Amino acid sequence: MWLDRAHGEVGYYTTQMLTGRGCFEEYLFRFGRRRSSSCMYCPAVDTAEHTLFHCPYWNERRRAADIQDLNTDAFLRFLLISSDNWKKFEDFARRVLRDKDEEARRRGYLEPSAFFSSVLVLENVYCWLSSIE
Ligand SMILES: [Zn+2]
Repeated sequence: MWLDRAHGEVGYYTTQMLTGRGCFEEYLFRFGRRRSSSCMYCPAVDTAEHTLFHCPYWNERRRAADIQDLNTDAFLRFLLISSDNWKKFEDFARRVLRDKDEEARRRGYLEPSAFFSSVLVLENVYCWLSSIE
């Protein structure tokens, strides 16, 4: 069902949100890019799931994107129902991750963007190499 969807091209920000590999403190902490795994906006551990579903800081953005109060299953259904929903999610992911990026920079944390780009490039190269065989 997921692979058959007609819409939903996965881009830079949506990839981060869906894979958890991105501007999430817990992920960055694992790679030694952060001193702690705590969310910048609340005391919880910051993961993609936390950012997408739980962090109170993004409540307003979630409401605007119609993704408030969804669990993972309901969220995936939401994405598959229409391309408008996908666009709302894309918009949410872009705005939220840009803000997080900016906040991290403001606090003087390590610059994450170049790091993610290289991780994503490496993953794409890996996919490409494994598709050759
Ligand atoms: Zn939070």
